[in-house]
Amino acid sequence: MFTKILIANRGEIACRIIKTARKMGIATVAVHSDADRNAMHVEMADEAVHIGPAAAAQSYLVPEKIIEACKLTGAQAVHPGYGFLSERASFCEELEKEGIVFIGPKPKAIRAMGDKIESKKFANAAKVSTVPGFLGEIENAEHAETIAGEIGYPVMIKASAGGGGKGMRIAWSKAEVRDGFERARSEAKSSFGDDRVFIEKFIVDPRHIEIQVLADAHGNCIYLGERECSIQRRNQKVVEEAPSPFLDESTRKAMGKQAVALAKAVDYQSAGTVEFIVDNEKNFYFLEMNTRLQVEHPVTELVTGIDLVEQMIRVAAGEKLAIKQADVKLNGWAVESRLYAEDPYRNFLPSIGRLTRYRPPEEGRFGDIVVRNDTGVTEGSEISMFYDPMIAKLCTWAPSRMAAIDAMSDALDNFVVDGIEHNIPFLASLMQHPRWREGRLSTAFIAEEYPDGFSTILPDAEDRSVLAAIATAVELLRRDRLDRLTGRLAPHSGLLKPDWVVWLGDDYIPVSIGEGMVSIPMEIDLSVAGSEPMTVRSDWRPGEILWHGTIGGRHVSAQVRPIENGARIAWKGMSVTARAMLPRIAELDRLMLAKTAPDTSKLLLCPMPGLVVSIAVIVGQEVKAGETLAVVEAMKMENVLRADRDVTIEAINAKPGESLAVDAVIMEFA
Ligand code: ADP
Ligand code: ADP
Ligand code: MG
Repeated sequence: MFTKILIANRGEIACRIIKTARKMGIATVAVHSDADRNAMHVEMADEAVHIGPAAAAQSYLVPEKIIEACKLTGAQAVHPGYGFLSERASFCEELEKEGIVFIGPKPKAIRAMGDKIESKKFANAAKVSTVPGFLGEIENAEHAETIAGEIGYPVMIKASAGGGGKGMRIAWSKAEVRDGFERARSEAKSSFGDDRVFIEKFIVDPRHIEIQVLADAHGNCIYLGERECSIQRRNQKVVEEAPSPFLDESTRKAMGKQAVALAKAVDYQSAGTVEFIVDNEKNFYFLEMNTRLQVEHPVTELVTGIDLVEQMIRVAAGEKLAIKQADVKLNGWAVESRLYAEDPYRNFLPSIGRLTRYRPPEEGRFGDIVVRNDTGVTEGSEISMFYDPMIAKLCTWAPSRMAAIDAMSDALDNFVVDGIEHNIPFLASLMQHPRWREGRLSTAFIAEEYPDGFSTILPDAEDRSVLAAIATAVELLRRDRLDRLTGRLAPHSGLLKPDWVVWLGDDYIPVSIGEGMVSIPMEIDLSVAGSEPMTVRSDWRPGEILWHGTIGGRHVSAQVRPIENGARIAWKGMSVTARAMLPRIAELDRLMLAKTAPDTSKLLLCPMPGLVVSIAVIVGQEVKAGETLAVVEAMKMENVLRADRDVTIEAINAKPGESLAVDAVIMEFA
């Protein structure tokens, strides 16, 4: 076994690998860029080597720098994590030349599976069912049209070298194929430096289900069940689970057998994933093989009890697999939510900045439930625009799917993140979504269920009474504390006026208070909007963000953040302002003029913090709706800002190369 390994990655996956290495008694070396000097993975490793500037192309993606770091520290092997150098065959060969072990498959397998056209040919040869399509050279747009006609519409045009959900487009007609083919080819050329594209049948409303395989250097290969990853946004996974709610034992077995056959056909060793799409009739088709540790591997670990990183390290050290296929048992259910630094209310635009608060829910086993949070950040960490916007992978395990989903919902309610925008409200609302809970999934789920993007979830009557109860309980304690501080100590006499009002957003909700104690812990009977009284119990203290308690016997975890004369309450994806007051004050409040928001219709505001790449217009220019105004880059993504109506440019306030904050004025219209 190795005594020291280097992790050629950053963020949560570097931390994840270090944890297992430490458990195995192996010393660890981290590498880091300028931007990651104080990162968590650097802190966790036994040693750390600086490998260059923030841009990945000059640090994490440079093989020579990794090899140099190995030599400097005497690391005997390299775990690449995912992304970066994990699927670069030439990197493995360079390591091999230096006598350093790559903890992953052999270059031959990476090459064979790294190219989508080649891997489909391989799969066909190994009798794996693939999506019907054409794998030859496509000469021109006419040829593409002919092929699409033969396959039958709709079709998908894909870049052979594509990955990460990029370089794919759907065509429903001849005209779309013509147009799509040319664009796909030029996009493939500019994104992947390789213009080969191919065409396959677009499977409508499929599920994405993938099989985890594990193989050693001695010809043993097993599969560890499946993961369902159908909850995707723009072909990128957001929520994953194991097992799949759709598969039966015989389909699982058939997919597992094909995955193993493919792995064996390329002499695969290490952990790998064979991705399939599955149609409504449970027909499954091979998509691609990912020759690395997958982002969503924790859900497999939770249902199999197998540490995949440990297995990868053992296999790389030449050990035989100690697990036989018959030993693999799927136990219970696991769900993973990817927490991204992106604003769900602004079409998921990336968000950067400092994590002024970062308090994940407690990890561990709680009765029948397991909570696991794979993360690479801590409170105070900076989310920069240089790397992936994923901040954590929150997983829950329970004996049943429903219990795992409810545990996830609760864990999300308990996850406190401030300082940046994040997708927790979206994930939390998803956990309540009836179709998700029923397991009626497809890769089009998010597009179908959130056609206009995500917007604030409106509370129903039952939610409103929970929110009004929390708002009242919080306000009573706040006043009690104020009274004590100001010495008005006629205990609660003035306080426990029976009639109250809660403004929930613009909703006026009467609340009446019955028996109870305003103290910590508090216990009080409330009746909301004339309904039956319910008892509210909580040990919340003013100043705390997490509000835990029971309302009418139901356990509730919500987040309360103070605002003027009230609180903003976040719960199950809802986020509302709540102000509890006496009815007379509410009457006066009603008469107050509402503040009007400033008119921004004549301004182009920067939608996220980022770097101005280009300005496409000049002062005085008349621009038609839909035309490009400027391009702003954030987190490896170029965002094109377009005119939403016909405008004339009056002033330009930003120039290329400038870093802008969110809502900075880029230009003004006449
Ligand atoms: P998974 O199936 O594990 O989600 P993805 O294909 O979405 O895998 O990619 C995993 C990681 O690899 C992500 O961090 C993604 O950014 C990165 N990645 C994958 N393909 C590419 C690519 N072609 N260019 C840049 N990054 C990529
Ligand atoms: P990547 O390398 O970017 O991960 P994949 O080939 O794995 O590319 O496809 C990513 C996602 O795109 C899949 O999970 C699926 O949702 C969708 N997809 C890919 N090919 C097809 C297809 N032929 N029909 C329908 N959806 C597809
Ligand atoms: Mg894929």
